[in-house]
Amino acid sequence: MEGLPARLEQLRAALPAGVKLLAVSKGQPAEVIRAAVALGLASFGESRLQEAEAKQRALADLGPLDWHFIGRLQANKARGVLRQFGTIQSVDSLELAQRLGRIAAEEGLSPAVFLQVKLRPDPAKGGFDPETLRRQWPELALLAPLRPMGLMTLAPLGLERGGRLALFQDCAALAMELGLKELSMGMSGDWPEAVEAGSTWVRLGGALFGSRQV
Ligand SMILES: *Cc1c(COP(=O)(O)O)cnc(C)c1O
Repeated sequence: MEGLPARLEQLRAALPAGVKLLAVSKGQPAEVIRAAVALGLASFGESRLQEAEAKQRALADLGPLDWHFIGRLQANKARGVLRQFGTIQSVDSLELAQRLGRIAAEEGLSPAVFLQVKLRPDPAKGGFDPETLRRQWPELALLAPLRPMGLMTLAPLGLERGGRLALFQDCAALAMELGLKELSMGMSGDWPEAVEAGSTWVRLGGALFGSRQV
């Protein structure tokens, strides 16, 4: 938690207006999130349902926060994630989107969703390949009550700066082609090039909180 105010101040100064900051609080205890809220942060990213639920309970007195799910989403966790998160950034297949749409309708929810795309081969990551996304987009766009906001992507480890910039630019071009406005791109190690390519949401864990604690 130490150092959070200074790191946040530096990031706020460095991020252009219009680029939103998702504080990735996975691996951080609830008290760190409480400190971040006191500094004006409102949007938090978590990648595991159980871990998030425990922290959300511990922070219930703060009132509603803007929770984004950013992890691999297993089908059997879909309902739980829909109940706990207003935004799901890691929708990586039509099948998952259909399931989320069905359950959201049952629950009376209309979550914001990002479609996760995989623009370079990367066995470690999920995501639509761009061709599949283009083909399935007409169906995805109609999956009310889901609200498709934009694309989310991650750069593979080991890609150098120029390669990452090109990847983020490809993602921006694809979002524009589909008419999607939001671009969730950029983590602690690569947010400057993501912002250069037009990111509207950077997802920062380490750059904000230091190393993960739990
Ligand atoms: C963990 C994670 C982040 C944040 O990573 P840092 O390198 O700590 O900034 C961003 N996006 C996703 C999808 C993550 O899983």
